[in-house]
Amino acid sequence: MPDPARLSINHVTTKRWTLPDAIAGYARNGVRGIGLWPASVLAYGVADTRRALDAHGLVATSYCCGGMFVATGKAERAKQRERNRALLEQAAELGAKSLVCVSGGLPAGEKGLQAARQRTADELAELLPFARSGGVTIGIEPIHPMKAADVSSLSTLSEANALCDALGDGLGIIVDVYHVWWDPDLGHEIQRARGRIAGFHLCDWLPTMEENIGGRGMMGDGVIDIAGIRAAADRAGFDGFYEVELVSTVWEQRDPVEVVKICVDRYRTHC
Ligand code: ZN
Repeated sequence: MPDPARLSINHVTTKRWTLPDAIAGYARNGVRGIGLWPASVLAYGVADTRRALDAHGLVATSYCCGGMFVATGKAERAKQRERNRALLEQAAELGAKSLVCVSGGLPAGEKGLQAARQRTADELAELLPFARSGGVTIGIEPIHPMKAADVSSLSTLSEANALCDALGDGLGIIVDVYHVWWDPDLGHEIQRARGRIAGFHLCDWLPTMEENIGGRGMMGDGVIDIAGIRAAADRAGFDGFYEVELVSTVWEQRDPVEVVKICVDRYRTHC
C-alpha cells in the first residue's frame, strides 16, 4: 500500500470546487498535496493561494502547464518565453515542486514533428537558466502519442531522458501512467530516470477508446498496472507525491466530496 502522506490531488479532478474549496476539501480528507492550474490560481491570486496552502498544510506538488513551445516567429517566441518565465515565477511563489511543461504539438500548417522536437529542446535550453535561478524544476511530461499533433511532440520517457541527458540540471520528468503505460521500454526508462522523476500522475486507461473519449478513468477502473509502475518509480528513488490527475468530463460532473473520498480509497486499494 502506498504511503497515505504521499497522496496529492490535482484541482482538475474536482473542477466543481473553487480553488479555496478544493484546498480545504483535500485537507479535510487528509490529502497533503495539490496540483495547481494557472487559471484558478491567477483568479484567486498567487499570494492568497500560497497563504491558503500554508494555512491548511498543503504542498503544491505541481503547477501545470508551461511549455507549449509552438511559436515559430520571433515576436511570438518572445511572448512565449515571457509567459513561461512568468509561470516559473508564480511556481516559485507557490512553493510548487515543479512547473510541468508540455512541449506542444505542431503549429498550424507544419508537418515536421522533428522540427517541433528540436524547438522544444531549444526553448527548454533557453528557459532552464531562469528556472535554476528561481529554484523551480521544469518537469517535462511525455504525453500519449495520440496527442502528438495538437498537444505534445514529446511522447516517450526515452525522449524525456535524452533531453535531461543533453540539458542537465533543473530539468526533471513527470511520469503520468496514462501517457506511458503502453511503452515496452517503460521499466528501463523509469530506472534511467533515477534522480529525475519530478512528479508522478495517477489515473487509469479505460479498456476501450470509446470509453476514453470522455477522459481518463479512476484508478482501478482501467487496465494500467498502476501499483507496478509506482513501485518502479520508488525503486528509481522517487520519494515525492503521487498526484491524481483525473481529466474527465464524466468525473468532473460528480460531487467533489464523493470524488475525493473515492480517490483516497482507490489510492489505498489500487495504487
Ligand atoms: Zn499528467
